[in-house]
Amino acid sequence: MLSLNEYLAEAEIAHGHLCAGQVLGVRLAMLGLAKLGIEDPRGKDRKRLVTFVEIDRCATDAISVVTGCRLGKRALKFRDWGKMAATFVDLETGKAIRIAAKESSKKLAREMHPEIESKNQQQMLAYREMKDDDLFSTQWVKVELPPEEFPGYKGDRIVCAQCGEGINFRREVERAGRVLCRACAGERYYKVL
Ligand SMILES: [Zn+2]
Ligand SMILES: [Zn+2]
Repeated sequence: MLSLNEYLAEAEIAHGHLCAGQVLGVRLAMLGLAKLGIEDPRGKDRKRLVTFVEIDRCATDAISVVTGCRLGKRALKFRDWGKMAATFVDLETGKAIRIAAKESSKKLAREMHPEIESKNQQQMLAYREMKDDDLFSTQWVKVELPPEEFPGYKGDRIVCAQCGEGINFRREVERAGRVLCRACAGERYYKVL
Protein backbone atom coordinates (compact mmCIF):
# COMPACT_ATOMS: atom_id res chain seq x y z
CA MET A 1 0.00 0.00 0.00
CA LEU A 2 1.06 3.57 -0.59
CA SER A 3 0.87 6.35 1.99
CA LEU A 4 -2.15 8.61 2.49
CA ASN A 5 -0.38 11.46 0.71
CA GLU A 6 0.66 9.30 -2.22
CA TYR A 7 -2.89 8.04 -2.71
CA LEU A 8 -4.25 11.57 -2.39
CA ALA A 9 -1.92 12.77 -5.13
CA GLU A 10 -3.23 10.02 -7.42
CA ALA A 11 -6.83 10.66 -6.40
CA GLU A 12 -6.49 14.35 -7.20
CA ILE A 13 -5.41 13.53 -10.74
CA ALA A 14 -8.09 10.90 -11.27
CA HIS A 15 -10.90 13.00 -9.80
CA GLY A 16 -9.86 16.40 -11.11
CA HIS A 17 -9.49 18.14 -7.76
CA LEU A 18 -8.59 17.52 -4.16
CA CYS A 19 -11.54 17.74 -1.77
CA ALA A 20 -12.75 16.46 1.58
CA GLY A 21 -14.45 13.59 -0.23
CA GLN A 22 -11.10 12.42 -1.63
CA VAL A 23 -9.55 12.35 1.82
CA LEU A 24 -12.56 10.47 3.17
CA GLY A 25 -12.54 7.99 0.29
CA VAL A 26 -8.81 7.30 0.42
CA ARG A 27 -8.88 6.75 4.17
CA LEU A 28 -12.00 4.60 3.99
CA ALA A 29 -10.44 2.35 1.36
CA MET A 30 -7.09 2.18 3.16
CA LEU A 31 -8.86 1.11 6.34
CA GLY A 32 -10.85 -1.55 4.50
CA LEU A 33 -7.74 -3.00 2.89
CA ALA A 34 -5.84 -2.94 6.17
CA LYS A 35 -8.67 -4.75 7.98
CA LEU A 36 -8.74 -7.43 5.29
CA GLY A 37 -4.95 -7.68 5.18
CA ILE A 38 -4.84 -6.91 1.45
CA GLU A 39 -1.53 -5.20 0.78
CA ASP A 40 -1.27 -4.87 -2.96
CA PRO A 41 -4.79 -4.46 -4.37
CA ARG A 42 -3.60 -3.08 -7.71
CA GLY A 43 -0.77 -5.58 -8.08
CA LYS A 44 -0.51 -9.13 -6.85
CA ASP A 45 -3.84 -8.98 -4.95
CA ARG A 46 -5.76 -7.44 -7.84
CA LYS A 47 -8.07 -10.42 -8.35
CA ARG A 48 -8.87 -10.70 -4.68
CA LEU A 49 -11.10 -7.72 -4.14
CA VAL A 50 -14.63 -6.64 -4.98
CA THR A 51 -15.83 -3.30 -3.63
CA PHE A 52 -19.43 -2.18 -3.18
CA VAL A 53 -19.96 1.58 -3.01
CA GLU A 54 -23.19 3.11 -1.75
CA ILE A 55 -22.88 6.60 -3.19
CA ASP A 56 -21.78 8.24 -6.43
CA ARG A 57 -19.84 11.15 -5.06
CA CYS A 58 -16.26 12.38 -4.76
CA ALA A 59 -15.23 9.65 -2.33
CA THR A 60 -16.24 6.94 -4.79
CA ASP A 61 -13.51 7.98 -7.21
CA ALA A 62 -10.94 7.89 -4.43
CA ILE A 63 -12.04 4.42 -3.33
CA SER A 64 -11.59 3.27 -6.90
CA VAL A 65 -8.08 4.74 -7.06
CA VAL A 66 -6.90 3.03 -3.87
CA THR A 67 -8.52 -0.36 -4.47
CA GLY A 68 -8.04 -0.49 -8.24
CA CYS A 69 -11.67 -1.69 -8.40
CA ARG A 70 -13.43 -0.21 -11.40
CA LEU A 71 -16.89 -0.48 -12.86
CA GLY A 72 -15.49 -1.64 -16.19
CA LYS A 73 -13.63 -4.46 -14.50
CA ARG A 74 -16.77 -5.53 -12.68
CA ALA A 75 -14.86 -5.24 -9.41
CA LEU A 76 -16.73 -2.08 -8.39
CA LYS A 77 -20.41 -2.55 -7.60
CA PHE A 78 -22.71 0.41 -7.18
CA ARG A 79 -25.66 0.31 -4.83
CA ASP A 80 -27.34 3.70 -5.06
CA TRP A 81 -28.30 4.22 -1.44
CA GLY A 82 -26.96 7.74 -1.06
CA LYS A 83 -24.77 6.70 1.87
CA MET A 84 -21.11 7.43 2.42
CA ALA A 85 -20.19 3.79 2.86
CA ALA A 86 -18.45 0.95 1.10
CA THR A 87 -18.03 -2.78 1.59
CA PHE A 88 -14.80 -4.55 0.72
CA VAL A 89 -15.05 -8.24 -0.12
CA ASP A 90 -12.01 -10.49 -0.08
CA LEU A 91 -12.75 -13.18 -2.65
CA GLU A 92 -9.90 -15.32 -1.38
CA THR A 93 -11.04 -15.61 2.23
CA GLY A 94 -14.73 -14.71 1.89
CA LYS A 95 -14.28 -12.05 4.55
CA ALA A 96 -15.99 -8.72 4.04
CA ILE A 97 -16.05 -5.45 5.92
CA ARG A 98 -18.48 -2.57 5.57
CA ILE A 99 -17.21 0.86 6.50
CA ALA A 100 -19.37 3.97 6.84
CA ALA A 101 -18.42 7.56 7.53
CA LYS A 102 -19.80 8.68 10.89
CA GLU A 103 -22.37 11.48 10.91
CA SER A 104 -20.53 12.97 13.88
CA SER A 105 -17.30 13.46 11.88
CA LYS A 106 -18.51 16.77 10.37
CA LYS A 107 -19.17 18.22 13.81
CA LEU A 108 -15.84 16.93 15.06
CA ALA A 109 -14.11 18.59 12.09
CA ARG A 110 -15.66 21.92 13.15
CA GLU A 111 -14.44 21.42 16.68
CA MET A 112 -10.94 20.46 15.58
CA HIS A 113 -10.46 23.40 13.23
CA PRO A 114 -12.85 26.25 14.05
CA GLU A 115 -10.22 28.66 12.70
CA ILE A 116 -10.74 27.43 9.13
CA GLU A 117 -13.75 29.06 7.52
CA SER A 118 -14.10 27.01 4.37
CA LYS A 119 -15.99 23.82 5.21
CA ASN A 120 -14.16 21.87 2.55
CA GLN A 121 -10.73 23.02 3.78
CA GLN A 122 -11.73 22.40 7.36
CA GLN A 123 -12.90 18.86 6.63
CA MET A 124 -9.97 18.15 4.36
CA LEU A 125 -7.52 18.85 7.16
CA ALA A 126 -9.59 17.27 9.95
CA TYR A 127 -10.25 14.11 7.95
CA ARG A 128 -6.51 13.68 7.51
CA GLU A 129 -5.91 13.96 11.24
CA MET A 130 -8.92 12.20 12.73
CA LYS A 131 -8.60 8.76 14.26
CA ASP A 132 -10.19 5.90 12.31
CA ASP A 133 -12.70 5.34 15.10
CA ASP A 134 -13.83 8.97 15.03
CA LEU A 135 -14.18 8.99 11.29
CA PHE A 136 -15.69 5.58 10.56
CA SER A 137 -17.83 2.82 11.88
CA THR A 138 -16.95 -0.69 10.74
CA GLN A 139 -18.82 -3.97 10.69
CA TRP A 140 -17.80 -7.42 9.51
CA VAL A 141 -20.42 -8.66 7.10
CA LYS A 142 -21.20 -11.57 4.80
CA VAL A 143 -21.78 -10.77 1.13
CA GLU A 144 -23.41 -13.44 -1.01
CA LEU A 145 -21.73 -13.16 -4.37
CA PRO A 146 -23.29 -15.40 -7.03
CA PRO A 147 -20.96 -16.57 -9.82
CA GLU A 148 -22.26 -14.00 -12.32
CA GLU A 149 -21.14 -11.19 -9.99
CA PHE A 150 -17.50 -12.27 -10.07
CA PRO A 151 -15.28 -10.07 -12.25
CA GLY A 152 -14.10 -12.98 -14.40
CA TYR A 153 -17.53 -14.55 -14.97
CA LYS A 154 -17.95 -16.10 -18.39
CA GLY A 155 -21.50 -16.97 -19.32
CA ASP A 156 -23.78 -17.16 -22.30
CA ARG A 157 -25.32 -14.07 -23.78
CA ILE A 158 -29.11 -14.27 -23.95
CA VAL A 159 -31.16 -12.44 -26.57
CA CYS A 160 -34.25 -10.57 -25.42
CA ALA A 161 -37.39 -12.06 -26.97
CA GLN A 162 -38.88 -8.60 -27.44
CA CYS A 163 -36.17 -6.11 -28.49
CA GLY A 164 -33.59 -8.56 -29.75
CA GLU A 165 -30.74 -6.97 -27.82
CA GLY A 166 -28.13 -9.16 -26.16
CA ILE A 167 -28.10 -9.52 -22.38
CA ASN A 168 -24.97 -10.47 -20.43
CA PHE A 169 -24.30 -11.66 -16.91
CA ARG A 170 -27.70 -13.28 -16.38
CA ARG A 171 -29.54 -10.01 -16.18
CA GLU A 172 -32.46 -11.44 -18.15
CA VAL A 173 -35.85 -11.93 -16.51
CA GLU A 174 -38.76 -14.20 -17.33
CA ARG A 175 -42.22 -12.78 -17.88
CA ALA A 176 -45.10 -15.05 -18.84
CA GLY A 177 -42.75 -17.64 -20.24
CA ARG A 178 -40.69 -15.16 -22.30
CA VAL A 179 -37.09 -14.27 -21.60
CA LEU A 180 -36.77 -10.50 -21.61
CA CYS A 181 -34.26 -7.78 -20.86
CA ARG A 182 -35.09 -5.63 -17.87
CA ALA A 183 -36.16 -2.72 -20.05
CA CYS A 184 -38.73 -4.78 -21.90
CA ALA A 185 -39.82 -6.31 -18.60
CA GLY A 186 -40.89 -2.85 -17.46
CA GLU A 187 -37.84 -1.48 -15.67
CA ARG A 188 -37.00 1.18 -18.28
CA TYR A 189 -35.36 4.32 -16.99
CA TYR A 190 -35.96 6.03 -20.36
CA LYS A 191 -38.88 6.65 -22.70
CA VAL A 192 -38.39 6.00 -26.39
CA LEU A 193 -39.32 9.13 -28.36
ZN1 LIG B 1 -14.51 16.16 -5.19
ZN1 LIG C 1 -35.62 -6.21 -24.53
